[in-house]
Amino acid sequence: MDLSKFPKRNYLQGPTPIEAAPAFSRALGGKVNVFIKRDDLLPGCAGGNKTRKLDFCIADAIEKGADTIITCGAVQSNHCRLTLAWAVKEGLDCHLILEERVAGSYKPAGSGNNFLFNILGVKSTKVVPGGSDMLAEMDKVAEQLKTAGKKTYIIPGGASNTIGATGYVACAQEILQQLFEQDLKIDHMVVPSGSAGTHAGIVVGMYGTSAGIPVSGINVSRPKDIQEGIVHKLATETAKHVGMRGDLPASEITCFDNYVGPGYSLPTESMIEAVKLLAQTESILLDPVYSGKAMAGLIDLIRNDHFEPGSNVLFLHTGGSPALYAYLDTFQ
Ligand SMILES: *Cc1c(COP(=O)(O)O)cnc(C)c1O
Repeated sequence: MDLSKFPKRNYLQGPTPIEAAPAFSRALGGKVNVFIKRDDLLPGCAGGNKTRKLDFCIADAIEKGADTIITCGAVQSNHCRLTLAWAVKEGLDCHLILEERVAGSYKPAGSGNNFLFNILGVKSTKVVPGGSDMLAEMDKVAEQLKTAGKKTYIIPGGASNTIGATGYVACAQEILQQLFEQDLKIDHMVVPSGSAGTHAGIVVGMYGTSAGIPVSGINVSRPKDIQEGIVHKLATETAKHVGMRGDLPASEITCFDNYVGPGYSLPTESMIEAVKLLAQTESILLDPVYSGKAMAGLIDLIRNDHFEPGSNVLFLHTGGSPALYAYLDTFQ
């Protein structure tokens, strides 16, 4: 799969590190060796996985002559923060629609990503109730801005369309090149699975290059069967977009939904344990909504002997640590 034909803005400045996590692995009994792909260290204000997707999405926006980006997310959305951050750097206007998925969770003076939206100079934010039709809401804002003469471009939630997911096909290729150079064999990969572009892109990249590395997604909101369907649909479309030959079997998509807890963005004991354990063994910060719950999943899978003893397991750290500061009470 030759990705060089797709326009991108070159936001990456080289590969993100793959780090061993020996103290963390020991704290879990030394049954497996955990490695961490540090996409939390990607460029873009405060880092995180959306930079890889936006590299391609914003290139498409600029190619289409846009001067204004509209996107959406939850009230503490890392995707909104990074879309805004890259728009600022590109000299584009950025408007955000925030979905209040947990009633009463939006605080105009809230901390975390919400605080950063203001510092980064967002043009407007509109808060809508949980369950709103976000595409319709973005269309409404786009229509208003078009009447005012703006050339708008809508990036869907999480930048999880085929253009954005291509960033994670590229990430899988990057990982395989690093494993080659570092003479490292990875037996299994674990990724957070939310709006699905990250999970779908990684699977397409791994399957499409016959890497033989199974990928497990840890859900942050939906039940297993629904999420697997969403990931498979996007992976199939992305495989076509990047020119992968053949079909992507549904059996390549595996999700675990046991670590969501009461719902999207709501804290769980296992998330708190995961955030503290990684911080206190490796000095790496996870986040409460995505990477913390995904790591809680990996910890539980290790404890329950899901992996062969001695396996090397690669965890994709997708970032999100600014949201920690909106959850101070959870960690007291
Ligand atoms: C968006 C996000 C994810 C999930 O990625 P998707 O591509 O939406 O599945 C994981 N971690 C963090 C920190 C995120 O912001």
